[in-house]
Amino acid sequence: MPTNLQVLLDHRPTDTVSPANFRIVEAPVGAPGPGEVLVRHQFLSLDPAMRPMLDDVRSYQKPQEVGGVMRGRTVGIVEASTNPRFQPGDAVQGEGGWQRFSLSDGRDLTIIDAKAIPLQAYLGPLGLPGVTAWYGVNRIIAPKPGETVLVSAATGAVGSIAGQLARLAGARVVGVAGGPEKCAYAVKELGYAACADHKSQSFADDLKAALPKGIDGLFENVGGEPFRQALRRLNDFSRIALCGVIASYQGAPTGVPNIGLLVVRRIKMEGFIVFDHLDLWPEAIRELAGHVAAKRLAWRETIRDGLENAPQALVDLLKGENFGKMLVRVT
Ligand code: NDP
Repeated sequence: MPTNLQVLLDHRPTDTVSPANFRIVEAPVGAPGPGEVLVRHQFLSLDPAMRPMLDDVRSYQKPQEVGGVMRGRTVGIVEASTNPRFQPGDAVQGEGGWQRFSLSDGRDLTIIDAKAIPLQAYLGPLGLPGVTAWYGVNRIIAPKPGETVLVSAATGAVGSIAGQLARLAGARVVGVAGGPEKCAYAVKELGYAACADHKSQSFADDLKAALPKGIDGLFENVGGEPFRQALRRLNDFSRIALCGVIASYQGAPTGVPNIGLLVVRRIKMEGFIVFDHLDLWPEAIRELAGHVAAKRLAWRETIRDGLENAPQALVDLLKGENFGKMLVRVT
């Protein structure tokens, strides 16, 4: 049996996470027991929510256990199985964690079709980020043709799909992204009408110029200054899909101003967690897969090689250094 490599949470960060919060260990890989599946991981997904998961606070997700293998979504290939649902060679998506191999009873595993679509797309547009985008756009914003939708972290895993889905629904889509390269990609490859660079000195003016008719739907991924500026441009009866506030995951304020604005402009703001809507995942993934097959959706990935580089990749994701879905190539 090969050796497993695992990344454990060594101790909780007090503010900013660093690679020193993690410990890398080798461990033997056991053979599958009755009904079990041994999976060799190919890609690990890194998600912004992994930072709040490191804190011992009440949330929609359990705190990460100190000394335990870091939790995370993975795609990989079944190496050995005594579970009749899975055969060696099957491509699967699951909750394998930050390790080379995982043993599972199969309940977290889904067989995926990796012939036409690269395996790791099931951690991106055809996985959690895609479904998150789908839910926020279709079930909260519900854009009408001609309306304006603003998306923050516009080129990221969730934002890039949200922006394209809103555009496919007929909206004029504007992005907020960090830097000229990301903004150029948002317009040229993702089809945004405009994109404002939140790192630019002229961000507030650029955003105003990009939104001549204000905002009817806001897909908020970031919080902080981009959120504060967007709130100033919201139209009467606009909708905010509050998906995440990554700018605050390491303690910075969220930038929420006078909430009286929500009353005066009759704005609907809805925070959501995609795991509350598991019943809608099959419908969302079917629709997303249709768009992918028809080449109506584009996406990018930032891939870091080697599981031992996963802690640094998480640190970099939380600084916005990814360009598209942040992944670790495990093998
Ligand atoms: P991304 O791929 O979008 O990566 C994060 C991006 O956030 C960065 O690349 C960066 O883009 C942007 N960013 C802006 N400001 C900051 C800042 N101050 N610090 C760090 N990053 C910043 O990540 P995801 O698509 O995976 O996630 C996007 C959001 O969606 C997150 O808030 C996440 O928590 C949330 N989410 C919510 C879910 C739900 O169920 N509600 C499910 C999945 C994700 P740029 O350089 O362009 O600013």
